[in-house]
Amino acid sequence: MPELPEIELLKREIDPRVKNRTVLEFKVRNYKLRWPVPEYLPKIITNKNILKCSRRGKYLLFHFEHGVQIIHLGMSGSIRFIKDEPPGKHDHLEWVFNESIILRMNDPRRFGAVLWHDLKNDGQLHENKIFKNLGLEPFSLELTDEYLYKKLSNKKKSIKQIILDGHIIVGVGNIYSSESLFKSRLNPLIPASELSMKDCAKMITSIRETLNDSIGSGGSTIKNYVSTNGESGNYIKNHASVYGRDGLPCTLCNSKIIKIKQNGRSTYYCPNCQDVNKKK
Ligand SMILES: [Zn+2]
Repeated sequence: MPELPEIELLKREIDPRVKNRTVLEFKVRNYKLRWPVPEYLPKIITNKNILKCSRRGKYLLFHFEHGVQIIHLGMSGSIRFIKDEPPGKHDHLEWVFNESIILRMNDPRRFGAVLWHDLKNDGQLHENKIFKNLGLEPFSLELTDEYLYKKLSNKKKSIKQIILDGHIIVGVGNIYSSESLFKSRLNPLIPASELSMKDCAKMITSIRETLNDSIGSGGSTIKNYVSTNGESGNYIKNHASVYGRDGLPCTLCNSKIIKIKQNGRSTYYCPNCQDVNKKK
């Protein structure tokens, strides 16, 4: 599944190539994604300028003067610039800017989504139901130790689940929440409300470092990602300390990394470095 770093890399690749360009044609070969692509969409963006491409959480946003196209890649979606290639079975959507700039979205499992937010009728973008409950961006200046501490103070769920659900900090995802907790030496099972201000500071730093590592290693991830539709394989192979390493020795203490399930999702941690009793 594409994670925040992949979407950030996509945004960085797409924005300079589409910014201030006119969509000459928007082709929809299959409207049946996770939610149906609005049938009016080709009509309202054709011959309109994209002002910029941005990202919110794991959503890519194409900003037009009259609205915002909201793109989510779901479980298996990918988006890339193509050259003169006939569309394949799962190439559902295409933005044509000119002969040499064509962006194509592929999604074999069709859990992705392409929606429209009309700035006149639907209000401001952050009021959209998709974005209303999203937490702060991990790199937002508003995300401070005090902010996180206050937000966690009444949360009884485990810190792993709270980080993963995206309501306080958006887009950390399953891989990076395990990695960030390891970097912070925090046990994933601790109730979120038990984190101290210092723990919160460590957690924020770790999340940012982990995501930055992944974005930084993305030079090749993104190429693999957009062309082969792979997961974050590059990051996991080269950077992961705990994720996917159950049974292997911890890089710091040699203890065996263990894997548990939390709310149906896998969590990996070192029982020694992240000993629940060491926190006290
Ligand atoms: Zn360890």
